[in-house]
Amino acid sequence: MADDNKPLNFIQQLISRELADGSVTRVITRFPPEPNGYLHLGHAKSICLNFGLAEQFGGACNLRFDDTNPEKEEDEYVKAIIDDVRWLGFQWDGEVRYASDYFEQLYLWAQYLIREGKAFVCELNGEQMREYRGTLTEPGKNSPWRDRSVEDNLVLLEQMKTGAIDEGRMTLRAKIDMASPNINLRDPVLYRVKKRSHHRTGDTWNIYPSYDFAHGQEDAIEGVTHSICTLEFAANRPLYEWFIDNLPVPSKPRQFEFGRLNLNYSITSKRKLKQLVDEGHVSGWNDPRMPTLSGLRRRGVTPRAIRNFCDSLAVAKTDGVVDMAQFEHFIRDDLNDNAPRAMCVLHPLKVTLTNVPDGEVDMRTVAGHPNRDDLGERQLPFTREIYIDREDFNEDSSLSRKKFKRLVPGEWVRLRGACVIQANEVVKDDRGEIVEILAEMIPGTHGEDPPEGIRPRGVVHWVSATECVDCEVRLYDRLFSDPAPEAGDRNFLDFINPASLTVLSGCKGEIGLAEAVAGDNYQFEREGYFCRDTESGSENTLVFNRTIELRDNWKS
Ligand code: ATP
Ligand code: MG
Repeated sequence: MADDNKPLNFIQQLISRELADGSVTRVITRFPPEPNGYLHLGHAKSICLNFGLAEQFGGACNLRFDDTNPEKEEDEYVKAIIDDVRWLGFQWDGEVRYASDYFEQLYLWAQYLIREGKAFVCELNGEQMREYRGTLTEPGKNSPWRDRSVEDNLVLLEQMKTGAIDEGRMTLRAKIDMASPNINLRDPVLYRVKKRSHHRTGDTWNIYPSYDFAHGQEDAIEGVTHSICTLEFAANRPLYEWFIDNLPVPSKPRQFEFGRLNLNYSITSKRKLKQLVDEGHVSGWNDPRMPTLSGLRRRGVTPRAIRNFCDSLAVAKTDGVVDMAQFEHFIRDDLNDNAPRAMCVLHPLKVTLTNVPDGEVDMRTVAGHPNRDDLGERQLPFTREIYIDREDFNEDSSLSRKKFKRLVPGEWVRLRGACVIQANEVVKDDRGEIVEILAEMIPGTHGEDPPEGIRPRGVVHWVSATECVDCEVRLYDRLFSDPAPEAGDRNFLDFINPASLTVLSGCKGEIGLAEAVAGDNYQFEREGYFCRDTESGSENTLVFNRTIELRDNWKS
C-alpha cells in the first residue's frame, strides 16, 4: 500500500539511520487509545503511522489501552476500538495490552522514587497547588510538604493506596524543580486518590497514576523504541525523559511528536463527538455522518480508502487542516475502482412501453463493472413497465438538447444496458401531477445504434417495474455546513448541516440488489456510491446509505 516513491517522513528517515548505525535493532511502536470514546479519523492517522512503521521496518506495534483514568472508561469502547483497528487491517503484536496491567510495577517505581528522595506526598489542595505552581513568567514555590522523610512518604503512599486517605487530601508528586521554565517539571503529580472502581482492576486501587507517570514507563516495560504522539505532548517530553532517566526501567524509549489530523467540515475530538451522541444530534457513535471509524464503515467508506488517505498525509512537526475534499477524493477513487455497478431509481416515474407485450421478460446481460471482468455480469429483466427517475423526464420539449440530455415528449433516450425509447404521451392525475409516461421501444436498438433520424438525447438508468426490489435510500451529506465549526469561541452545534440526512422511501433497485449483504458497496449508476446498511431493518428491508456522490458537488 505504501507508495515506494514517496519521500520518507522525518520519523522514517530517523529510523532508517538508527537501523543502519545499529542504535536500534528492532522497531517497536504502540497505539495507545484511551477507552473513553470511539476512534475517529484522527486516530486512523496515528494507527496507520504506528502500525505502518512497524510493518515497513519489520518491527512490531502494540495495541495498549491507556486505562489509567477509572472515571470515563468503559468496556464498550474497548471492544469498539479493537474492532476498528482490526477492520483497518492491522494486527498488533501479541495480546491486547492495558496500562492497568502495569499498576503494580508503577507503584513499585513510585516507592523507588521516594527512596531516592525524588518523590513526596503532598497535602496541598488543588487551589493551593495552582498557587504554588507559578506561571509561565514566574517560578513556582516549593510545597511545604516537600521534605518529609522517606519513611513517612512510604507510609502515606501506602495509606493512599489502601483507601485510608480521602480523595483530594493528598497526592504523590515528583521532586524535580519548581523554578523550571517548563511547568511540567514543577513537581508534577504522579498519583491521585480516586476511590473508584476500575473496569479491569475493580476496587484493588484507591490511587491512579497520572498520564505522565504512566505513559513512558509503560513504553519502557513493553520495549517500545519510538513513542509517537501528537504535538501537544511536546512540552511533556522532558518529563517523559526525566522518568526514564530516574527509574530502573528495562528499556529507554524515546518520544516523538507529529501534527494531528484536523479536517475541515468535521471535528476530531472525542469529547465533542460524545456530546453529539449523548445529546441525540446523531443516532449513535456509528451514525454514518460521524467521522468515527465505525460511522465511516457504516457509511460505506472502505479501510483501503482510509489507509490511502492517511498515507497521503504529511507526517510533520506542524498542525494543519486537511480539506475534506481530499478525503472524499480517496473514497471515490477506491469505490470507482472496486464497487460493482447497479441501477437504482431514487424518485421512480413509471414508463409503459406500449409496444412491449405484457408479461414478456427479456433478460439483458450487462457488466458488473466497466473494467473489472472479475466482478462478473448482472441480469437486467427488460419488461413492458419500467421506472426511470422523475428528474430524467421533462414535459418541456423545447428544452435544448445541450441543457437537458434526458427524456422529453416526442424524443428519445437510451436506457442504460438496453434499448432506445421514445416518449409519446404524458399521463397525469387529477392534480396535474405526472404519474406515467407512455412510450415505445425502438426495435433493433438493444446494444445497437438507432436508425438514421432517431437521436437519443442521452442515457438514463432504469429498472423493470415488475421485476425489481423496493428499498429505502438514505442520502448523507457532510455533518457540518461550515468549514470550521470549532473555530474561536464558536459552538460547533450551531453549524450542524440541517440537510445532512435525507431519507427516500419507495426507491426501486435492480433485482440483483436483493442479494446485497450488509456492508456491500455499489455504484448506483448516475447517482453515486452506496452501501447496504448494517444496522437497519429485517432481512426483507433493504436500506442503502449514500457513501458519497459521484462528483464533488459541494459548494463552499
Ligand atoms: P481526543 O482529544 O479526541 O480525546 P486523544 O488524543 O485524547 O483524543 P487518545 O485515545 O488518547 O485520544 O488517542 C490515542 C492516540 O491517537 C494518541 O497517540 C493520539 O496522539 C492519537 N490521536 C488522537 N487524535 C488524533 C488526531 N486528530 N490526529 C492524529 N493522531 C491523533
Ligand atoms: Mg489522550
